[in-house]
Amino acid sequence: MNLTLIKPNMGRMGDKKYIDEGRMEPLQLGVLAGLTPPEVSVRLIDDRMEAIDYDLATDLVALTVETFTAKRSYQIAGQYRRRGVPVVLGGMHVSLIPEEAKEQADAIVIGDAESVWPEVLRDAKTNRLQPVYHGRFQAKPQAGVMTRRDLFHGKGYLPISLMQFSRGCPHHCHFCASSSYFGARQAVRDVAEVIKEIKSQPRKLIFFVDDNLVADFSAAKELFRALIPLKIKWVSQGSIDMLQDHELMELMVKSGCLGLVIGFESINPESLKGMNKQTNQHLSRAYQEQIEDLRRYGLQTWAAFTIGHDEDTPQSIAELCEFAIGSKFTFAAFNILMPYPATTLYDQLAKQERLLYQGKWWIHPDYRFNHAAFLPKLMSPEELTQAGFLARQRFNSPLSILRRALEPRTNLRSVYRLFTYLIYNPLFRREVYKKQDMTLGVSDED
Ligand code: SF4
Repeated sequence: MNLTLIKPNMGRMGDKKYIDEGRMEPLQLGVLAGLTPPEVSVRLIDDRMEAIDYDLATDLVALTVETFTAKRSYQIAGQYRRRGVPVVLGGMHVSLIPEEAKEQADAIVIGDAESVWPEVLRDAKTNRLQPVYHGRFQAKPQAGVMTRRDLFHGKGYLPISLMQFSRGCPHHCHFCASSSYFGARQAVRDVAEVIKEIKSQPRKLIFFVDDNLVADFSAAKELFRALIPLKIKWVSQGSIDMLQDHELMELMVKSGCLGLVIGFESINPESLKGMNKQTNQHLSRAYQEQIEDLRRYGLQTWAAFTIGHDEDTPQSIAELCEFAIGSKFTFAAFNILMPYPATTLYDQLAKQERLLYQGKWWIHPDYRFNHAAFLPKLMSPEELTQAGFLARQRFNSPLSILRRALEPRTNLRSVYRLFTYLIYNPLFRREVYKKQDMTLGVSDED
């Protein structure tokens, strides 16, 4: 049996396919391939940089679907199904809105794939695919499963290996799709298996793709202790309440952490309350102490902000950008709040009749990337879109890159740190312009 796994692209600019500057390995598909019995031959196609030959013989196609790639995923699924090849869709978007995904595939997998994937393959082999498979939440994710990294070779990914220690997060920020998907709970892998996986590959730079690596302090400490002897460098994502535990932070640094993506979200306490960002609420005084602590630990911070909260205005978003530049963050994201399906934010906005694009921005033909998909309270959607673009533009301007570089305890800490800073900042600057206004979906007729 031949199985084709596809990582879909997001969209296009005019007639040209959008090509992500920072292409990372599609970890989920590597794990799915690891779950696949050896008698099944697996091929990986990364639609972000490879053309899909729909006529190449295959018995089954599986795609991992995120909300931003839903439209493209459905287009690819349609192409295969018209040729009589069965298609299975899985991933977060499918679980958030299964009734939509079901229409576009022969089968969908809701939830974690581990418990149902062998059954899907068996059914596909005997032409008896069921429309829906419900995967059980895995208390020990990826148990006994090694990621098939051989499938990534030669594809041109960034030289950083992706790993996962935990799935989900116990918090319930209203905008967070991951929290809805996992039901505000977290499951951690066996530490010994994670260490084995790191040792099984040659790279010394690891990205833990966890939503919140430090959600469970004691589990994170166990991992960090085990990482210390490996002498690797790593990055991940974590919530700012980690700074309350000094031991956790010391172990984090000792184990090779270079920095984390941290959801600062807003500097307005009212907005933090409104989005139910519990990890930040008691830390909200413009984060001065926390930023100082992060510098003391020598961590390079990627500050993630969400914009478009009910208290936000174009002026407050411009101030937020100045705050980020003044804080000399290594990187920052100014993400317009997106009403992901099945989130509390989505339901709130739907109730208030504030959703645009008929509530389905991810498949709407008029939606453009980085545009507001709802009616903000104190500005128009166009003003929010523009304020977000200006913040990204200003934060990533050459002058800001220079100014932020001059932070002795983080970006100037070592030649390696400065090198990373100088490689990635221009890359993100290019992305600001490349992505803005992108159309979702890539028609194969283009
Ligand atoms: S802390 Fe982060 S991962 Fe957890 S629910 Fe909030 S936004 Fe999601």
